[in-house]
Amino acid sequence: MERTLSIIKPDGVSRGLIGEVIRRFEANKIKIVAMKMIYMTKAQAQGFYAVHKERPFFGSVTDFMSSGPSVVMVLEGENVIAKNRELMGATDFRKAAEGTIRRDFATDIEKNVVHGSDAPETAAFEISYFFNRLEITG
Ligand code: GDP
Repeated sequence: MERTLSIIKPDGVSRGLIGEVIRRFEANKIKIVAMKMIYMTKAQAQGFYAVHKERPFFGSVTDFMSSGPSVVMVLEGENVIAKNRELMGATDFRKAAEGTIRRDFATDIEKNVVHGSDAPETAAFEISYFFNRLEITG
C-alpha cells in the first residue's frame, strides 16, 4: 500500500477543475485519505519546491504556486504514485498522453493543473509538508 501527495494547483482551482480532478481519481478507484484547501505563501512554495531551487523556473513556479488557493490531498492505494502520475500526464501538456488531466486542461508547462509525488521518498516528504498524522484517515 502506497501513499502519494496530489495538489490541484491554483490554475486548476481558479478554473473550476476541483470536481473534475477528484472525479477522475474516484473513477479510477483511487482512495482519498486526506484533503484540504490551502493558500501557500511564497516561502511555503519555496520550501515545497526546494529540490528545484537551482532551476531557472524556480522563481516563476513558486510565484505561481503562491498566487491563489490550492487543494492538497493524500491518495492511497496499490501503486498509487505511478497511477496518479499516469492520470496526470507529462509535465509538458503537449507531450502528455491523450485523456490525461494535463493534456485535457493544462495551458502551459508551468500552469499544468496538478502535482503528484514522483517517488516514495518525495511522497513521504511532501505528505508531511502539508499534513500531520491526525489529518490522515485510514
Ligand atoms: P512534475 O513532477 O511533472 O510536476 O514536474 P517537475 O517536478 O519537473 O516540475 C515541477 C513543476 O515546475 C511543474 O509541474 C511545472 O509547474 C513547473 N515547471 C517544470 N518545468 C518548467 C519549465 O521549464 N518552465 C516553467 N515555467 N515551469 C516549469
